[in-house]
Formats: sequence, C-alpha cells, structure tokens
Amino acid sequence: MPTAAVKVEPRRVIPVAGSPKVFPVRRVYCIGRNYADHAREMGGNPEREAPFFFMKPADAVLPVAEGSTTVLPYPPGTEDFHHEVELVVALKSGGRDISEKEALSHIYGIAVGLDMTRRDLQGQSKDKRQPWENGKAADFSAPCGPLTRLAGQRALLKKSAISLSVNGKPRQNSALTAMIWSIPEQIAILSKFYELKAGDLIFTGTPAGVGSVVRGDVLEAAVAGSAGALVPIKLKVA
Ligand code: MN
Repeated sequence: MPTAAVKVEPRRVIPVAGSPKVFPVRRVYCIGRNYADHAREMGGNPEREAPFFFMKPADAVLPVAEGSTTVLPYPPGTEDFHHEVELVVALKSGGRDISEKEALSHIYGIAVGLDMTRRDLQGQSKDKRQPWENGKAADFSAPCGPLTRLAGQRALLKKSAISLSVNGKPRQNSALTAMIWSIPEQIAILSKFYELKAGDLIFTGTPAGVGSVVRGDVLEAAVAGSAGALVPIKLKVA
C-alpha cells in the first residue's frame, strides 16, 4: 500500500441537525436559472428549456452550524459578490438513469445554502464564452447549513418558502414550488450525465432578488412554512 506523497485536507463535512453525525461532501452540483423570476432578472428566458448544471469544488463548501454566525470571507478578484439563497439536497445513494419516481428516495437530507457568486467575473466569462469557475467556484462560495433528514418530511418541499435577508432587510423570497425543474427532475436529468453517489450535494437554484454584499453585511437565510422549517443560517461577510 503506497503512502501519500503529501498531506491534504480531509473532505468537507456538513452538520446533521440534532445529531452528532456529519455528512461528508463528495461533489457539488448546481442548477442554473431554475426560478422564472430569477431567469428574467438575469436577462434569460424562463421558458422550460433543458436545464443546465455547473459544479463547484467540494472544498468550496463552508459548513454553517446551528445558532452561530459563520464568517464568510469576501473573495479576491471581485467587486460584485452576490448572494443566491438555495435549497440544498444531499444524497445518501445514487446511480445512473435514476427515475423521477425513485429520485427522492436517494436523498439523505435537505439544508439551506448559498451559491455565492462573483457576478462581475461570471458576466465576463459569459461575454467571452469562457467557463464559469471564476464566477462560481471561489473558496467558501458554497455555505451550507445543517441537514434535516427528508424521510417523513417531504411536505417541507411542497409547503415551504425560501428566503434571504441582508442586515435584516428582505432580499429574496419564493415558494419552493416555483422551481422550473423539480428536485426529482433535477436528480433524474443529472443522473443521465453523471453517476450520482452518496455525498453529492445539489444546489437547486435561486429565486429573484440576488444582489451584492460587502464586508460587514449579515446574511440570514431560511426555508420555512406550514410543514415546519429547516435550520436557518446566519453569516457575516468579512
Ligand atoms: Mn445559483
């Protein structure tokens, strides 16, 4: 058995609500423009075109613990650092060609997350027809709160609103049911292109109201409704 030539950081883990267990992150998939109102604000067409996905590096995940204010480092190279609040889905199993019908059975839990974006760099990439990493894959660009087990809690997906405030002022708010591509559809489509596996996260898109933050801003994000709530998250940009 060869030994490692260099020491590397262990895999990122995110907390599990009400449990001493943690969830190890394998891959981070993200869907683009998945709420019609956000597609419009980005100058896109909210009609149901085939969805597109991008990835963030797994070590871009910034775990956010319950009841704490987590420091979110302002990344280098940008003057337009945007918040995108998103529901995050965490898989306990996977496979290829997963059917929509069985898709939810692969989910371990769901959480509140942020797809933090260097919007100016993303815009430059779009203009130059270059890849999106500079915009989307910054260190710490995927804050994620504690996971709530989905088993027995599927009503959360139908009856919750997702929201984000900055310094106490509401910025984003939408029903989760306003997604253009549902969570089962996202899992089914992704699994046609990749073999999904336990440990994978899917950031399921953001509603309208994205905007920039500066150092010192406090972001609070939640998913809540008549069927209950996920653990809310709070971060301070530094
Ligand atoms: Mn996003």
